[in-house]
Amino acid sequence: MAYSEARRAAYQADLAGIREAGLFKEERIIHTAQSADVEVEFPAGESARPVINMCANNYLGLSSHPEVVKAAHAGLDARGYGLSSVRFICGTQDIHRELEHRISAFLETEDTILFGSCLDANAGVFEAVLTEQDIMIADRLVHASIVDGMRLSKAQQETYKHMDLEHLEEKLQESQDKRIRLIVTDGVFSMDGDIAELDKICDLADKYDALVFVDDSHATGFMGKRGKGTHEHCGVLGRIDILTTTLGKALGGASGGCVSGRREIVELCRQKARPYLFSNTVPPVITAAANRVIQILSETTERRDKLEENTLYWRRRLKEIGLDIREGSHPIVPVMLYNAKLAQEVARDMFAEGIFVVGFFFPVVAKGQARIRTQISAGHERHHLDKGLAAFEKVGKKHGILGMGKKEIVEKFGL
Ligand SMILES: *Cc1c(COP(=O)(O)O)cnc(C)c1O
Repeated sequence: MAYSEARRAAYQADLAGIREAGLFKEERIIHTAQSADVEVEFPAGESARPVINMCANNYLGLSSHPEVVKAAHAGLDARGYGLSSVRFICGTQDIHRELEHRISAFLETEDTILFGSCLDANAGVFEAVLTEQDIMIADRLVHASIVDGMRLSKAQQETYKHMDLEHLEEKLQESQDKRIRLIVTDGVFSMDGDIAELDKICDLADKYDALVFVDDSHATGFMGKRGKGTHEHCGVLGRIDILTTTLGKALGGASGGCVSGRREIVELCRQKARPYLFSNTVPPVITAAANRVIQILSETTERRDKLEENTLYWRRRLKEIGLDIREGSHPIVPVMLYNAKLAQEVARDMFAEGIFVVGFFFPVVAKGQARIRTQISAGHERHHLDKGLAAFEKVGKKHGILGMGKKEIVEKFGL
């Protein structure tokens, strides 16, 4: 069938529907390197202007760190631009194996396999290691890429209520006839900054002879005293069977991901995981820079310590100003506004004040849970945070929401 005028009109109607529902995503164009200070063009066509970035996953400020950029240049010179191959044909260099060894040592796991992204890691691992005799029992709020990866596996799928370990235990009791029971969770949940109780989850796994899968994309590099991740934070190093994570957030923010964990599971992924077998190698330039990142993080906790300090300050001051934030300790700090329109207006006003933040609302978060998700970085200096706080105070005052909790905001603005 040709791409007829009727077909074009039908797609245009789909797009118009997305716009009418207020769900059309407009991208903001950055004219600089990713950093605390960026220049952003928004709306499209306006000239770019300087703003402070408070919505990146650049937790450790490594996205354009001179040491990382230098290592990337050196990698490009030494190992070229591309490999033009998947790993198992002719796409594995010494630096790829080096990175897998470094990540295993850093995460304190037995072995690691790189993927083009964490989405690819999640797309490949469940199908590679589970069969129809097995069951996956997942937290209801796991990342979309985990949901997709589970769909590709023949194992049975079950879910438990978000962070409800009694519910998880019921599901474990109901599935004792299965060969493998795999508990599936994010280490840190990206919308709320909730931290999974991995200690209790590992205890349940021991009690019911289950395995544990954790996606630690929002934790690797800074959670725990040495920044190893949620498993360190919860005191369960060595007890996570399958850990996936990304190089695209705290670890320099380029791209790439991995499955790390039990030796045999990693080897099975090398033999069977389709995104590994049928998609290109992580480029040498990224691999070389990631080696440097892991080396830096293994040598010093300076950056994760600064991130922790920045986060404590940001959370404390936002509360003092009178904003309603979700309690916690993670550098994801959601400023709760509940009403979707209010969240969009506050984000727009913040941008006018020189602070780059984004409103999140349904379907990205549940209905009536609209918010601005601020994200703190070790790349923020005190003056960045203070400027962000002053802007929130000014914009909060304008909308009359300072000192208000959920009840008052919902009464005033509706849901
Ligand atoms: C960001 C994220 C991913 C995707 O990582 P990519 O490497 O960008 O594909 C997967 N899982 C979780 C929990 C994430 O937050």
